[in-house]
Amino acid sequence: MKKFSDLINPTLSFEIFPPKGTGKLDTIFSTVDALASLAPDLISVTYGAGGTSRENTAEIASKIQNNYNLPATAHLTCVGSTKKDMEKTLSDLRSKGIENILALRGDLAEGEHLTDFHYASDLIKFIKTQYDFTLFAACYPEKHPEALSMEEDLLHLKEKVDCGVDALISQLFFDNNFFYKFREKARDLGIQTPIMAGIMPITSASQINRMASLCGASMPKQVQKIIEAYGHNNMAMREAGIAYATEQIVDLLANGVDGIHLYTMNQPALAKTISESIRGILYSLRVKRV
Ligand code: FAD
Repeated sequence: MKKFSDLINPTLSFEIFPPKGTGKLDTIFSTVDALASLAPDLISVTYGAGGTSRENTAEIASKIQNNYNLPATAHLTCVGSTKKDMEKTLSDLRSKGIENILALRGDLAEGEHLTDFHYASDLIKFIKTQYDFTLFAACYPEKHPEALSMEEDLLHLKEKVDCGVDALISQLFFDNNFFYKFREKARDLGIQTPIMAGIMPITSASQINRMASLCGASMPKQVQKIIEAYGHNNMAMREAGIAYATEQIVDLLANGVDGIHLYTMNQPALAKTISESIRGILYSLRVKRV
């Protein structure tokens, strides 16, 4: 099994989420079948994001790693967990052969309260003292919605990375300029880890408005125009969304991004169209950067 550190820059990774509820794992494995055929460098599996289940993350990531022979990353949130809960979860991940974790704070669900972990950095420190996972963490090109300023958020990001993060995966954004400014400031602060850019193709007007307000991503005029022009027609919106995301990716790759992390929304056809249109670009950059 290739380790993340063995992967050739720039990487292409896909994010999927477990199906809601338990017992519906077959559907996700047909998605994984299709995604695996695109030979991504990594597939990450969310943990309880947007009301999806937490129970199946480890099992899905484990099968990707062991049955498909592809590096997988299990997302893991800590807020609301005790150290004892976390030890159990981490031992389970280890026993399932998981090597990579995206260590997150998460958001308190209704009825949950702060316990042993307040920030993602607490989880990272905890993992580092007892285990040897490769660790990913989240970053926010337009700052985390709770942070008072980008400067404050970046200082916390630096603290987090210094706890032992191997690579960062960004929140989605629609304007590459935010990513470039963020990356420059992060590098100036001494954050040297690879930063993968999170890209979510727009496939429907309602989806994108919901995601943008949830994540705090700015909507450039160009995206607003696309939604105004094509939002009434699903096929047109999807084609325009894929074209926009591909354009963003081509620009990011030309500007030296370490990797593209595609929020696939469990839609392999979307990932296929985009991956195939950048295959030659990725290949040429990988050869150049070796
Ligand atoms: P942190 O890094 O802890 O930061 C959270 C906030 O606290 C920031 O404002 C930061 O500036 C501040 N902060 C950090 N340290 C300190 C400190 N020492 N003192 C004061 N303030 C501090 N959520 C899920 O539930 N499941 C998922 O699978 C999931 N996957 C994600 C994948 C990606 C790529 C991204 C970008 C996000 C994902 N999320 C997921 C959402 C994430 O859980 C939320 O954004 C959450 O609010 C913050 O998590 P974090 O790990 O970034 O937190």
